[in-house]
Amino acid sequence: MYAAQGVGLAANQVGEALRVFVYDCPDDEDVRHVGHVVNPRLVEADGIVLRGPEGCLSLPGLEAGTERYDHAVVEGYTATGDRVRVHGTGFFARCLQHECDHLDGMVYADRVEGWRKRRLTRQVARASWSR
Ligand SMILES: [Zn+2]
Repeated sequence: MYAAQGVGLAANQVGEALRVFVYDCPDDEDVRHVGHVVNPRLVEADGIVLRGPEGCLSLPGLEAGTERYDHAVVEGYTATGDRVRVHGTGFFARCLQHECDHLDGMVYADRVEGWRKRRLTRQVARASWSR
């Protein structure tokens, strides 16, 4: 995650069949949030829906305006088995929703629609072609 300058990473992105994600992510007030969640459940996702640029370490070099709630709460466990409840707002809420999606087999591109989806699809095709 750090090597690729990401702010979150889900275990299944690196080939681990575990429901775990890590994060080191600022919110919109520039407060840094660092941690991990084992068996996370997105228990709250509400507030206003904001469309903001979103990228993913699994789709390098790509980005698309993606709609996310600006408040999210994730519950789960720490690596030592303690219960944890993580609140996020702004960009950090986006991160929490993004990482939970990964563990449910989704990437942000699955949430992008319309011309943004078409543009992203063209970018993926171009990236695949140039490899
Ligand atoms: Zn991602």
